[in-house]
Amino acid sequence: MADLSVDFANTVYLRRGRTQDAIGDPEGLADWLRDRRLVTGGDDASHTDVLRLRDAVRRLFAALAEGRSPDTNDVAELNVAAAQAPTWPELRVDGDQTLLLHHTHATGRRALLADVARDAMRVIEAATTHPLRRCAAPACVVLYHPERASQRWCSSACGNRARVARHHATRRGAPAPPT
Ligand SMILES: [Zn+2]
Repeated sequence: MADLSVDFANTVYLRRGRTQDAIGDPEGLADWLRDRRLVTGGDDASHTDVLRLRDAVRRLFAALAEGRSPDTNDVAELNVAAAQAPTWPELRVDGDQTLLLHHTHATGRRALLADVARDAMRVIEAATTHPLRRCAAPACVVLYHPERASQRWCSSACGNRARVARHHATRRGAPAPPT
């Protein structure tokens, strides 16, 4: 499974040239959470709170993928969300097994948003060695971690679409779209 924060950012996507939002209404959000076996109970954070964090994460990741500086308001949004659910570790030793657990007092969506924010921080912090990219295929805005340095598309389907589009553009005599 993709990183939680990247998955969360990719709830906005394009289909047939139109922007879709998988969590744009409360029912969509509930479905999305249920599909991922994430928390559904506890409306301690509103749908609007969830969308606000998602949009901040999307803008931060877009800036990261394009090599731009992040917006300070978006950074603040992450920091606030993460601080809503402080965690503490617990070391549990059971025979020769050692387990590190993380606890928080927060519940429900607040805890989830804090997890998303912390995960997004980790993605941003690791970007120098593990870059985040935006799919280069036409009509795709998916963010992904490339498996190889030369990877330009989020999926083989997007790679095929991009090649077909280039082929048609060449046949029409139009300049090929940048690759
Ligand atoms: Zn794609």
